[in-house]
Amino acid sequence: MKQLRNNVIRAGLGALYLTGAHYLLRPIFAGVGAIFMLHHVRPRRDAEFQPNRHLEVAPEFLRAMLGHLRSRGVDIVTMDEVHQRLIERNFSRRFACFTLDDGYRDNRDFALPVMREFEAPLTVYVASDFAEGAGRLWWIALEAVIAKTSSIEAKIGDIATRFDTSTPAAKQAAFDRLHDWLRGLPGEHDTQREIGALCARYGVDQTAICRELCMSWDELKPFADDALVTIGAHSITHCNLARQTEEIASQEMAVSRARIEQALQRPAVHLAYPFGDKISAGAREFALAYAAGFKTAVTTRPGMIFRESADYLTALPRVSLNGNYQDTRIFPVLTSGAATAMWNGFRRIDAA
Ligand SMILES: [Zn+2]
Repeated sequence: MKQLRNNVIRAGLGALYLTGAHYLLRPIFAGVGAIFMLHHVRPRRDAEFQPNRHLEVAPEFLRAMLGHLRSRGVDIVTMDEVHQRLIERNFSRRFACFTLDDGYRDNRDFALPVMREFEAPLTVYVASDFAEGAGRLWWIALEAVIAKTSSIEAKIGDIATRFDTSTPAAKQAAFDRLHDWLRGLPGEHDTQREIGALCARYGVDQTAICRELCMSWDELKPFADDALVTIGAHSITHCNLARQTEEIASQEMAVSRARIEQALQRPAVHLAYPFGDKISAGAREFALAYAAGFKTAVTTRPGMIFRESADYLTALPRVSLNGNYQDTRIFPVLTSGAATAMWNGFRRIDAA
């Protein structure tokens, strides 16, 4: 399923680029701006098995994107400024905003220096458990389990299933299958229990993964003090909010915000929903974020920002800078909005 989706995106982006259709679609779908979504920014690695590669871009790709936007006279702004322009209906200039999810240390080491070259601001959404070193990044734990084994067993629907993980292709196939299975389990605790069992069986330490990859509060403090950096909330545990009771979901939002504000001594008024797709954040979560007092909240639903987005400040779409497509030829396609418009069936607002 994921492979099919990737092929569609790749064929779509390629087709849009080659036909020049993005130039024709531009006036209709370019919107007033875009919020770009990234996760890791770090140098490319050689390993053949990198199932989470879509979540990372190389510093030079980020630099090329910033250069492209600057050359087109696009303002690169903070989330506060996005909010301000939307509520004032100030759309005299196009804008772009760079957001990075989870709070990875590479954001400080590789993204910030590139952003600084352009004096461009960035927003980093921090899951508070990650900053405390207690986060469970199960998608990376699954990668680690599969990377170190040549065969693994998992109980899927009470049936012990063995997966060949001896070659990069077999590892990728096993990852896709197990990733979809873990995401599809009924509750967050089910996902955590199953990945916890796999980690215990194959000797992967989830806490060590969190500490290796994520900035601690002590590291976040000076990072947040940088004039270019805004810190936003990203829940406490990085759970699928839509699967939680209303009480827990609002706690995940409010407590994560309070922890950030307490640790960093600055306001955290912007939110990113963990996972952020339709099955993780919908109408209830948009209302909860609004009630919790967040100025904006971003999803991972693909789309540009339009004038109408001002009425959906806690359901803002983003444009993913996807590590699988680090080809500078797609920049005009991404900024034209044609790719996300195609994905959305040419609707401008998707906030249901
Ligand atoms: Zn996240």
